[in-house]
Amino acid sequence: MKLLIATKNRGKVVEIRALLGLGLQKIVEVVTLADLPDTRQPAEDGKTFAENARLKALHYAQAYSVLCVADDSGLSVEALGGLPGVRSARYAGPGATDAANNAHLLHELARFPRPWKAAFVCAAAAALPGRVVAEAAGKVEGEILPEARGAEGFGYDPLFRVPPLGKTMAELPTQEKNRISHRGQAMRGLIAEMKAAGVLLQ
Ligand code: IMP
Repeated sequence: MKLLIATKNRGKVVEIRALLGLGLQKIVEVVTLADLPDTRQPAEDGKTFAENARLKALHYAQAYSVLCVADDSGLSVEALGGLPGVRSARYAGPGATDAANNAHLLHELARFPRPWKAAFVCAAAAALPGRVVAEAAGKVEGEILPEARGAEGFGYDPLFRVPPLGKTMAELPTQEKNRISHRGQAMRGLIAEMKAAGVLLQ
C-alpha cells in the first residue's frame, strides 16, 4: 500500500516522515510529490487552512489513485490581524524564499510594540480518490523575535520562540519540534483518525 505526502517542501517532508514513524513506514510505502511524475497543482484558493488541506489531499489522491495526506499550515500574528495566515508561504511575494518572508515579517512588525504574539497553525487531511477520510488540526503559541536564532527546521522557525522552552523552533531537533508543534499535533490526530476510519491498519 502506498501513502503520498502531498508536498515538495523538504522541511515538511522530514517532519511528516518522522511523524509517520517507522512502524507505519513498514506497512505503507511513503512517497512524496518529489518521487512522482509531475502533475497539475491545485489552486490553493481556500479561505481556511482546513479547506486548503482538503483540496490538496483530494486533488493528489485523485491524480495518483492513492491514499494521500496533505497539510496546510502557516503563521498567524496577532498584531497583524492574523497575517500572514494562508499566505505564509508567499508573504513576501510569489515564490518568496524563507529569508525574504522572514525579512518581510520583521519589516511589517517594526511599527508594533513587542511582545509580538503569534501562533503556528496546521490543518491536515487524508483522502482517497473522491473522498476525504480523515481531518485534524494543531496549534502552538509563541512569540516572534526581532532576530533569527537556530538552524533547524524551515520557514519562520528561526523567528518563532516557544515560551515554555525559551528556544526558537529552529533551535529544536526535528523530534522535539514534532513533539510540540502544530504539525505534530495535527499529524498525530490525523493518523488516529485514519486508523479509526479503517484506511490504516491499527
Ligand atoms: P503551505 O505549504 O501552503 O502549507 O505553506 C506553509 C508555509 O507556512 C511555509 O512555507 C512556511 O512559510 C510557513 N510554515 C508552516 N509550518 C511551518 C513550520 O513548522 N515552521 C516554520 N514555518 C512554517
